[in-house]
Amino acid sequence: DRKMKVHNFNAGPSVLPNEVLYKASKALIDFDGTGMSILEIGHRTPYFMAVMDEARSLARELMQLDDDFEVMFLHGGASTQFMQVPMNLLDSGETAAIIDTGVWSSKAIKETKNFGFVDVIASSKDANYTYIPKNYTIPPQAKYLHLTSNNTIYGTQYHSFPQTDVPVVVDMSSDILSRQLDYNQFSLIYAGVQKNMGAAGATMVAVRKSMLGKVSRKIPTILDYNQHIENGSMLNTPPVFAIYISMLTLRWLKGQGGLAGIEKLNEKKAALLYDEIDHNPLFRGTVAKEDRSLMNVCFIMDKPELEEEFVKFCKKEDIVGIKGHRLSGGFRASLYNALPMESVEVMVEAMKYFSLKKV
Ligand code: PLP
Repeated sequence: DRKMKVHNFNAGPSVLPNEVLYKASKALIDFDGTGMSILEIGHRTPYFMAVMDEARSLARELMQLDDDFEVMFLHGGASTQFMQVPMNLLDSGETAAIIDTGVWSSKAIKETKNFGFVDVIASSKDANYTYIPKNYTIPPQAKYLHLTSNNTIYGTQYHSFPQTDVPVVVDMSSDILSRQLDYNQFSLIYAGVQKNMGAAGATMVAVRKSMLGKVSRKIPTILDYNQHIENGSMLNTPPVFAIYISMLTLRWLKGQGGLAGIEKLNEKKAALLYDEIDHNPLFRGTVAKEDRSLMNVCFIMDKPELEEEFVKFCKKEDIVGIKGHRLSGGFRASLYNALPMESVEVMVEAMKYFSLKKV
């Protein structure tokens, strides 16, 4: 039996909707009455093809992508995209402009350098990545601009995106499908699905076809977006279970009123927690207010000697996963799509109670 009470603030893999987990656990034994587990059916059977088709079309529908986009589910995590993006889009001799907002964009910078030039046009490293840079010029000759829409480790998030003629590539691993956006303003969107739209093992890539086929290098088949598109994300055996969980999570998301519905809930959750951080004398937010992430809420205590005790106290209250990333310390509460409002209410109660005892 699953312990229903645990309030799971993990940064990813992270909380999934109960109804997704129930359905998936049934499918592990008998997938839709086939007499076979979802793990036992062939990926080219009509059963699994229907799962893949539905996952791709739900992702497209929720983001309202225009016809130029192709949606793929691939292996390798978002980390593979750090190199697969430039391999497919950037010719040697060309330049990618990249905004450095932390560890994940730094990794993109490192891998991109293997394929072409990189112009780091802005960075918030000077303040341990606690804000989103606003002042920069995007070189018009750049092949594309790469940015990380939500910075999982530091808790910063873009609340508006640069308006530019340069194609924008975005790593949305930690805020994909969490809010309404004009997703068509981007030219390539990628995300590991394990935070907001499924289970670890699959990566979603949505790319404009018009961006592809323009580099002169030979791209290994398994890394070539065009090959994956032509083969409907079935170029080789896909991560079937991760894609199945993703499809169920996307169905659930649609049932929540799509991105309009989930955005409302995500805004409420974040507002409640930030409000407590701002008013509780024991806690303090670490990020520039206008750049605060609705997904990863980072905060510290003025009395760091109490941090360990607070984590233990939370654990007793079935609140898990709030320790900050080792690079930024303090606390990080991740409020992804599937985290219920009730979990944030319990967390806020715990902060109030702990503070009354200590202040
Ligand atoms: N990009 C961002 C913003 C992330 O938060 C992460 C992981 O947490 C990654 C990339 C790397 O993803 P993966 O572990 O799927 O390679």
